[in-house]
Amino acid sequence: VGGHPKPQEGPLKPAGVKRILAIGSGKGGVGKSTVSSNLAVALARVGRRVGLLDADIYGPSQPRMMGVNKRPASPDGKTIIPLEAHGVTLMSIGFMIEEGKAVVWRGPMLMGALQQMLGQVQWGELDVLIVDLPPGTGDVQLTLCTKTELDGAIVVSTPQDVSLIDARKALDMFGTLKTPVLGLIENMSLFVCPDCGSEHHIFGHGGVAAEAGKLGVPLLANLPIDLETRLAGDEGTPVATGTGPMAEAYARLAETLIK
Ligand code: ADP
Repeated sequence: VGGHPKPQEGPLKPAGVKRILAIGSGKGGVGKSTVSSNLAVALARVGRRVGLLDADIYGPSQPRMMGVNKRPASPDGKTIIPLEAHGVTLMSIGFMIEEGKAVVWRGPMLMGALQQMLGQVQWGELDVLIVDLPPGTGDVQLTLCTKTELDGAIVVSTPQDVSLIDARKALDMFGTLKTPVLGLIENMSLFVCPDCGSEHHIFGHGGVAAEAGKLGVPLLANLPIDLETRLAGDEGTPVATGTGPMAEAYARLAETLIK
């Protein structure tokens, strides 16, 4: 999609967007994108106007998780019309690249793509724009935190030490950049055997709550390892669109954030 974004003066917030909320993690594979899509759907279900920007340059998952993958239209070659899925306005870096192709962009190209996604996409009136960040503390996160008016960040981690160690770095980055951390989410916290109901702490226990306590930020949710969550994500209909216990868990998370 062509067009040259105008250089921005000061932090950018697309017109009509009330709040921008970034979802980050230290490592990949901890469920950051799963949480982002389900939270977006849960917020839309309680009547919020929600946008989801998949800025995970290296592994854009939202086209698959939200069940849409086509190139957004750009009738005038300058502005981009975002897509819609499950009541959420959606834009992904994945719409701009072919599935299975690596992103081999250097910094300036990445920044250009990000600026396009924020500045040229017609987000319309949104109560909240959720940004699914790439994992870690690289260029994209830095640019988004400094060039965008982020209202808050949430960090997703599993209870495993290797995840938590890197989650701390992400938290430290948000702290350094003065982005308010709204809280932590522990994902894959527990596996409940569907046959006998016994509980298994496959990735450890209590680490994320302890970290939240240490930092004085809320533990926003404890989300179990759940087969339906994984299947629903792979099928492009997030579990939060349904009626089961996970949909309820995401509805509670949405309520917590609205309060
Ligand atoms: P990230 O965005 O941190 O890289 P993803 O959201 O892509 O992680 O999740 C990685 C994989 O784990 C996906 O296949 C997803 O369906 C699965 N997953 C995420 N959260 C859960 C969960 N609570 N229970 C089961 N599978 C999960």
